[in-house]
Amino acid sequence: MIRILKIFGLLTLICYSISGFSQTSEINIRFIGNCGLYMTDGTSNIYIDFPYKSGAHNYMEYDLSELDSVKSKPIFIYTHKHSDHFSGRLVKKLAKRLDGKVYTPRNVKELLKLNNELADFKIEAFETKHQFSINHYSYLLTWHNKKIFISGDTEHAETIASLKEIDWAFVPAWLLMDANEKGVKLGVISKMFAVYHIGPDDNITNEDPKIILLNKQGEIIKIPY
Ligand SMILES: [Zn+2]
Repeated sequence: MIRILKIFGLLTLICYSISGFSQTSEINIRFIGNCGLYMTDGTSNIYIDFPYKSGAHNYMEYDLSELDSVKSKPIFIYTHKHSDHFSGRLVKKLAKRLDGKVYTPRNVKELLKLNNELADFKIEAFETKHQFSINHYSYLLTWHNKKIFISGDTEHAETIASLKEIDWAFVPAWLLMDANEKGVKLGVISKMFAVYHIGPDDNITNEDPKIILLNKQGEIIKIPY
């Protein structure tokens, strides 16, 4: 009897380790520069606010190899069309060559159709305000049950303040400052914050372990699911 129990125990262990393997799936997010992110779950390849015009408005430049490394059937999603986020010329060229799709605030209705096209994926679009930009959207992606918030350039924390239980929120430093001024409790909104769009003259210090500063291009964030 004892022996049989042991065998059961062993089988259970094996089963656990097999399911353990399948749980190594992850969403991989690479920081390209400014608000530029490359996100993949190994099947779909999503680019946020990239390609932009390298070095525009004195913000980050990127290596030309970034353009060559864009995967086939890319999905390009933009928060707005300022040149430090968007290059119409480059994205058109890449989308044509690689059979890609381009979504800007102008065709946000089309963007929502992705919810039926990608596996285990949902995107919500929030109209947000950004100085000198007629159209600006922030996005909430729910991908394999992980919530990822893309703030873009908006200066106003009201939208993110209305959300909760985000896993990773990508925000510029000024949004966190606005949230602080308005008494928004960031802890309930997102487990982790990644501060992007850091400029050459910005001097940001941070001691909060829930906040990382994206000041190194190429940095990778992994979200296991
Ligand atoms: Zn910008």
